[in-house]
Amino acid sequence: MRHDKHGIRRIDLAEMQLASSETARVINRDIVLELIRASQPISRADLARRSGLGRSTISQIVEQLIGENWVREGAMGSLPRGRRPTMVGLNEDLVAIAVDIHPKQASVALVDLNGRLLSRSLAPLTSDPADSMRLITDCMHRMHRTAPRKSIKGIGISLPGRVNPATQRLIFAPNLKWPEFDIKKMVETRMGLPVVIENDATACLLAELTFSRMDGIRDAVLVAVAEGVGTCVLANGQLVVGHNGMAGEFGHITVDPNGPRCGCGKNGCWEVFGSCRAALRYYRELRPKGPVMAFQELLNLAEEGDPAAAQALATQAMWIGRGLRMLIASVSPSTILIAGDLTSAWHRFGPVIEKEVRDVTLAGDPPLIRPTHEGEIARLRGAAALVFQRGANRTTSAPAIANATKSA
Ligand SMILES: [Zn+2]
Repeated sequence: MRHDKHGIRRIDLAEMQLASSETARVINRDIVLELIRASQPISRADLARRSGLGRSTISQIVEQLIGENWVREGAMGSLPRGRRPTMVGLNEDLVAIAVDIHPKQASVALVDLNGRLLSRSLAPLTSDPADSMRLITDCMHRMHRTAPRKSIKGIGISLPGRVNPATQRLIFAPNLKWPEFDIKKMVETRMGLPVVIENDATACLLAELTFSRMDGIRDAVLVAVAEGVGTCVLANGQLVVGHNGMAGEFGHITVDPNGPRCGCGKNGCWEVFGSCRAALRYYRELRPKGPVMAFQELLNLAEEGDPAAAQALATQAMWIGRGLRMLIASVSPSTILIAGDLTSAWHRFGPVIEKEVRDVTLAGDPPLIRPTHEGEIARLRGAAALVFQRGANRTTSAPAIANATKSA
């Protein structure tokens, strides 16, 4: 089993679970799957060398992964002495339906095991969750019909809210303004496929861990900036879930009690200063008669040289940086990942955010701050990662991937 080099191994008798040979088998299988993902196409001999597992164990695991459709045999490799091993890689015909929900619309996409988007379309949403999920499932059915040869593993849904990990019911969604609702049950019934729902920031971090590889990074925070500000914390190599799955709601910590009203009902939360909605508000304050716009239009205006748009984005960037201070002080990440549409204008945001953080670093190097894949793509890949993680039958949550190759 895994040893935590930074922590005490604590045996909690309330959560006692003995390691069985089955546990070891599942962990080894996960490690082999991740080695294939990282180094495909790869031969069985190289998998044995890289993992330290015996040749016969590797062959058994690879056969199992092929049988379960995760992996496929492909081209022949070449060796100097004429032997030609069969290479294996991920099965690109295995896909997930990924859904990214925003207050007014949802993106639906087919994403393959390598994190590639194969198709994508938009569904408008209403203020009623049942209506909205009907529109989304109609969109899924249409998309499925366009790709009849793909095998769909499941459906991953990323949304700006919190899902109780025990019940998988939506329990907190201040920007969607949806009442408590069983999305999972409705979509499973309509689609006949397993459904996993997760907070958008968590899904984005999972996408980075799965598809971009963060081997060796044990302490990171992902900040998802959209209509609100969501965060997900990776501490000591584990995703922090918290009581009721509510850990990481830094976006709803008050930074100015006299600030504007937040969707959560309080005043002056971090997200009313650092979100894309806040940037639009800053712009309206500077240009009261300016057109009411979407955030993307604000980005375009700034690029066209509009000084008010540039100023509004700079103010948003400053507030994102200021909010990161509380994150840095509380969990001390080595890496901070920022996700959202603003990453396409990183030349504006990056320097301002870094300056705000640099000024308050207490000791040591400041954390590395970098953007994730552009905007919605990160969330859609995250929604797909939810399916592939759970589907891979992991015994531990996502960070196992980041650490798996080390414990091999
Ligand atoms: Zn709030």
